[in-house]
Amino acid sequence: MSVVFDIRTLFFFGAMTCVVCAITLFNLRRLHPPSEAAMRWAALAEAWLGAAMMLIALRGALPDLLTIPVANALGTSGPVLIWAGTRRLVHVEPRNGVTVAAILVLVGLQFALGTSLDMHAERIALTSLAQGGFALASAMLLMRRRGIDPALPLRWAIGFSSFFALVHVARLLHLAVRQDVDVRPDGMIGGSLVMVMVTAIFALAPMVYAMVILGLVYSRLGGELRQMARSDALTGLMTRRSFFEEGREAIQRMIAKRRMPVLMMLDVDRFKSINDGHGHTVGDRVLAHVARVLRDSVPEGALLARYGGEEFCLLLDCERMREALDHAQALNAAVRSSPYALTSRRELQTTISIGIAFGPAEGSSLEALLITADRRLFDAKACGRDCVIADDAPLELRRVGPMRTGTLSVTPLSPDDKASFATI
Ligand code: GH3
Ligand code: MG
Ligand code: MG
Repeated sequence: MSVVFDIRTLFFFGAMTCVVCAITLFNLRRLHPPSEAAMRWAALAEAWLGAAMMLIALRGALPDLLTIPVANALGTSGPVLIWAGTRRLVHVEPRNGVTVAAILVLVGLQFALGTSLDMHAERIALTSLAQGGFALASAMLLMRRRGIDPALPLRWAIGFSSFFALVHVARLLHLAVRQDVDVRPDGMIGGSLVMVMVTAIFALAPMVYAMVILGLVYSRLGGELRQMARSDALTGLMTRRSFFEEGREAIQRMIAKRRMPVLMMLDVDRFKSINDGHGHTVGDRVLAHVARVLRDSVPEGALLARYGGEEFCLLLDCERMREALDHAQALNAAVRSSPYALTSRRELQTTISIGIAFGPAEGSSLEALLITADRRLFDAKACGRDCVIADDAPLELRRVGPMRTGTLSVTPLSPDDKASFATI
């Protein structure tokens, strides 16, 4: 089937969408700072391709020099700018020398083909080779980001670049077989329906490209925001908000599996004195250090979060109470035996106090367990700190004994102990 299509109108609207996309990409360039350079280059490529399409749309109204060699030179070299932008998008060396050289060569070749419409097949062949080649190179660059960038928008970006390259291969093959390109001086393009469809795809491709870039940059930003909301900036631990979200579900899962959800509240002892004595900057470093020690000491699968200030919370899946107590005492010992190195000669020793609540016996909700664990943490402070409290026995019924380091260890009493220790 042979059709005649108005290439000028097609490219006029293509040019308009390029302008809108260029403005949008440029205005949103600071959306995600690490992608800013890529957004600038994408905006430049849109403006470049928009100018090419506008010149073609004005064929007949402007001198042939502008609407044929200049327009084709811009159109052929536009994907070089997209490739240069993609290098910035995937954070590899920009290769400005290659970019400039490729543009100069392509512009030179298009000018060498002159203004005659008889050379249109050669012009198309050159354009397709350059656009297809750089689109393929961009797709390969994007593939390097697999496993790093969000999967779906990256797949779209790779898919779009590959599809664009394939269209050019198809166009070249079609040209070799049919050789029926018929571009008339009045701006109408005649030929097969495939050729007209390919031209329509070229008119719309810059808009799809802008959407693909924006999709990728937005999802990068979204991923980083989710990560920021999930992890505490100072300690890198989970935030209280995500602890609540994930903790609630985890408790329900444990209860359904007839496991024991154990919730611990942990608080750094006399932390204010570290701030007062050494300043808040040192305080911050000590806090990050304690968080690191805790993270390295909690069992796998546990949820550890910074509850706020110098308080942490921990959700564990245990089989027996003894197991939970062992974990808590191990955490106490780990912090006690890992002082923060203030200088090469001076260390700051820190300790933590821990309150524990056991679900589902003491509560099936995160909130109920937190209240109980917090109350016991308060008792741990009252018992002299650097200790674990796991029940509500009156303070005077607790065995208090000095540890190796001179700190206090407070252990809940067994029923047998309670019988033999009426008072301390
Ligand atoms: P206790 O043993 O009873 O827990 O005593 P404490 O001094 O640790 O407790 P208090 O609640 O009196 O003080 C906690 C201090 O923690 C007060 C606050 O300035 C400090 N703090 C909270 N968040 C941060 C933080 O992010 N960085 C620093 N440097 N200090 C913090
Ligand atoms: Mg404290
Ligand atoms: Mg506190």
